[in-house]
Formats: sequence, structure tokens, C-alpha cells
Amino acid sequence: MIKIATLGNIHDEGLKILRESNYEIVDISDFSIGNLKKCLTEVDAIAIRTTKLTRDILETCNSLKVVSRHGVGFDNVDLDYLNQNKIALAITGSSNAMTVSEHVITMFLNLCKQSKLADQLVREGNFRERNFMKETLEIYKKNILILGFGRIGKELAKRCKGFESQIYVCDPYIKSKEITDLKCIPVSFSKGIKIADFISIHLPLNKETEYLFSKKEFIQMKKNCILVNTSRGGIIKEDDLIWALNNQIIHSAGLDVFEKEPPEINNPLFKIKNLILSPHNAALTSECKKRMGVETCNNIVNFLEKKPELNLYNIINKNKLNLS
Ligand code: NAD
Repeated sequence: MIKIATLGNIHDEGLKILRESNYEIVDISDFSIGNLKKCLTEVDAIAIRTTKLTRDILETCNSLKVVSRHGVGFDNVDLDYLNQNKIALAITGSSNAMTVSEHVITMFLNLCKQSKLADQLVREGNFRERNFMKETLEIYKKNILILGFGRIGKELAKRCKGFESQIYVCDPYIKSKEITDLKCIPVSFSKGIKIADFISIHLPLNKETEYLFSKKEFIQMKKNCILVNTSRGGIIKEDDLIWALNNQIIHSAGLDVFEKEPPEINNPLFKIKNLILSPHNAALTSECKKRMGVETCNNIVNFLEKKPELNLYNIINKNKLNLS
């Protein structure tokens, strides 16, 4: 019988797909290295959320054919090992882009309307202080810079259109036509950060993007610029962001991701007023968790059974497996 390990919660609608295929589900809740090495030896596939799958764990998996990530980032899995051993790595590429882009719009609006402070004024009986609070802002007809025009960047562009804004995109790795087709304007990073009123980051974290935003960039940005990062912590240098926010170098910021997750309880970010935070939950709506669970499990069934429905776009290492 085909055995599938699930590491972390997978939506019931997804698990139903595995059961209907008559697969045995091995639900693992103890993620210690010793237990993983013991429980994964015979499994054909692993459905995984954020648990780390390191080389030494993977080396004990004698029957593994596919690792299916619940999400799109895969920095928790040793891709080199999977490539060397012709094991597929699948992601849920169709499930969460719209959800994360909604989270960005939520942060943009909360920051420019100062919703946290406005709520506090009313509750504390300071209604009339609205006349003394820093003026609120609009997105209407502003310049929005989207960094990275992949799945999420594109969905965000569609939603920003509703604000009648100019949408600038910096992504040197795609054809300009992909940008202009969606009625957005290609721009370089250095020009983009100078003209933007709103910036949203949708990049992978790598050597090129690590600390892409530090003091040097903040001083070039508009004083009223609002910066949101829902991609990966480490793209913004947190110490420098604190400096920029404390000194009103930029207007405000929103972070769903952090250099260290979870952040320490005494993280100095928590003291900053013109900053909103969320616990890396941009993709964790009820609807999205269901879509991700279903796509995670469909990837497994379609791959193992070589079904034509297999979405090759979801297979990160398809070239290494000679899939086309
Ligand atoms: P994607 O791979 O579809 O798109 C990334 C884009 O960035 C690509 O188009 C690529 O060409 C571009 N890019 C790479 N390096 C660049 C650079 N230096 N400058 C400009 N563009 C560059 O990825 P996605 O699905 O849109 O996800 C984007 C990020 O969001 C990833 O880091 C992902 O892990 C993260 N993410 C976070 C959450 C969350 O819950 N907060 C959920 C989903 C994804």
C-alpha cells in the first residue's frame, strides 16, 4: 500500500483525496529528527508545512518519490538532495497568491488610514484628537511599486488597479511584456524606490535580495512612503527599518515576515508605533488553507499516478526529473 506522511495540519478536503486513492496516511506530530528518521523510512510521499527536511532526514527515506509543500516557499527542504535522488518537489502555486495580495492591501489601507491609532482614539474618549493626529492618506492615483512580478506580484497588481494608481514593477528576470500586458510600468529598483508612495515586496530571499532594504535605500525613499513585506524576513534589515521609522525617514511599514521567526518577545520592532505586524499568516485564511490542502494532496496523487492533470508548473525540479 502506498504510504503518505503528513507533517503538520493538512485540510480535511485534502486528506479526503488521499483516502479516496486508498493511500495509507501516516500522520506525524512529533517533528524531532529522531522520530522523523524512524517514521519516514517507508513513505512514498511527504506532505509538509514548515518542518525542516534536512539531508540527514531525507537519507533515511528509502521509498520517497515526492515531497509536496503546503505553500510556495521551500527553503525548509534540501532541494539539492531531492535533485540528486530524482525526488520531486511540488508546491501549491495556484492557491495563495490572491490571499497574500489581499493581506498587502489590508496593510496598505491600515497604514495610510492609521486605523490602529484611530480606533484607539475613539475607545479612549479622545474623539476630537482626530484633528491633531498625523493626516491620513489615500492610495488613489498614487505610485505603487511591486518588487517581484511572480504569482503574488501579479495578483497584487490586479487589485491595485481598483485604486486607479500607477503600478510600477521591478522584476529583471521576466520579459517587460509580461509587465506591460497587465498595464503596469517596468522600472529599475533604484528609480522605483525613489518615486514610490507604496512598496510591496514579493521576492525570494537569496544572496541578491538579502538586506535589499537598509539605511542606504531608506534615505532615497519618499518621506510618505509606505513599505510592506509579506515575502521573507531578511530582505529588510530590521535594525535599519527601526531607524527609518523612528526618524520619520519613511511614513510607515507592515511586516508579515521577520528576520527570526517567531521574533523574540523583546524585539525592538514591537515598540514602533508607525508599524503593523502579523504573524506570517498572510496566506492562512480559511479559504486558502483549504485550497492549499487540496492542492498539496492533488500534487501527490497526480505525480504518483502519472495523471495528465499533474500541474507541472507546481513541480519545482521538473527539469531534473526530465518532466516536460
Ligand atoms: P514567485 O516565484 O512566483 O515570484 C517571485 C518573482 O521575483 C519572480 O518573478 C522573480 O523573477 C522575481 N525576482 C527574483 N529576484 C528578483 C530581484 N532581485 N529583483 C526583482 N525581482 C526578482 O513567488 P511568489 O509565489 O510570488 O512568492 C513571493 C514571495 O512570497 C516568496 O518569498 C514566498 O516565499 C513568499 N510567500 C509568503 C507568504 C506568506 O505567508 N507571507 C505566502 C506565500 C509566499
